[in-house]
Amino acid sequence: MSPILIPPRFGWYLCTFHIGRMYFLCVNILILLVATLYFYLSAGRYTHNVASYPLPDKSLLTEPYPCINMNGDLAICHKGQCNGKWKPPRTKHCSICGLCRLEFDHHCPWVGNCVTLSKLKAFITFLFLVPSTFLVAVLPVAQILVKHIILALHVSKRDPWAAKTWWDWPGSWILCAGPFGRWIVGAILGFRLLSQNREQSQSPQLGYLIEQPHLRVVITAGFALLLSVFAFGLGIVSTRKVFQGVTTLEILRPSRSQSVDRHDLVCIPQTATNEVFVAPLLPKERMYDLGNDCNWKLFQLRPFFLTPSPRSYTWPKLNPIMVQRIREMQNNHRN
Ligand SMILES: [Zn+2]
Ligand SMILES: [Zn+2]
Repeated sequence: MSPILIPPRFGWYLCTFHIGRMYFLCVNILILLVATLYFYLSAGRYTHNVASYPLPDKSLLTEPYPCINMNGDLAICHKGQCNGKWKPPRTKHCSICGLCRLEFDHHCPWVGNCVTLSKLKAFITFLFLVPSTFLVAVLPVAQILVKHIILALHVSKRDPWAAKTWWDWPGSWILCAGPFGRWIVGAILGFRLLSQNREQSQSPQLGYLIEQPHLRVVITAGFALLLSVFAFGLGIVSTRKVFQGVTTLEILRPSRSQSVDRHDLVCIPQTATNEVFVAPLLPKERMYDLGNDCNWKLFQLRPFFLTPSPRSYTWPKLNPIMVQRIREMQNNHRN
């Protein structure tokens, strides 16, 4: 064997054996991680982060806290099985799960469970892992799939039946999601024409699903692409909310400029006189925003997987700028 032949052979060996195996392993690990996170997010629908702390005596509270009315009262839930249980700050009664959830963010219909701040790290990881897995899985065949779509469009446009039924029909511009849908239906027709020709001339071989134009492969990849784009977008939005120190629920509440929401009142207890001073949030103020850096640091410090709830309730830290503003209001009110 001539030494000059060794590098190409070695290269072939690396590509087809080692890298091929590594790629296969990588894709499978990613799919396994996505599946594990999905099951973790779906688990514990009736057990995780359920609000079950006794109602505190408000006269013993000394630090500023969120309240529901001008008397500084704490929220209580009478819905479902909660039956008068205390509803700590940032808790929401999920009507789908039928219980009060601590640190509620939103109920995710895709995982059939509530997403809470304790599960948010896993949720955001899941949202970014889905498009990453899709990219790694589809990248080696992406070029072939695009070629097949172009070929299908080409065949469809040149076929007299497809041209008469679809391309030349004015309704094709509006029937399926406008001009974009016109191309999708056109490509589907092209794949049908290609499959009719293929069945007459070819027999299935190993890898034929990818090497030959197949509509089901393109539809599967297209569906996975849509899901990945959706997950990626949601991941970006969720990460932004982490930086802002808000939950989805807090963002979706009606604008405070229109009406004062009962969740947006802050009470400052006065231990000496046993009185309370209650003030509403300003329209763009965020109750739990501790500043971008601090919000992100607190998020990072949270464990990835759920840990048992502590026996005693830990009150969430309130926006220090907001507390300062309300204290100044209180001082002005006294004077
Ligand atoms: Zn409840
Ligand atoms: Zn729920």
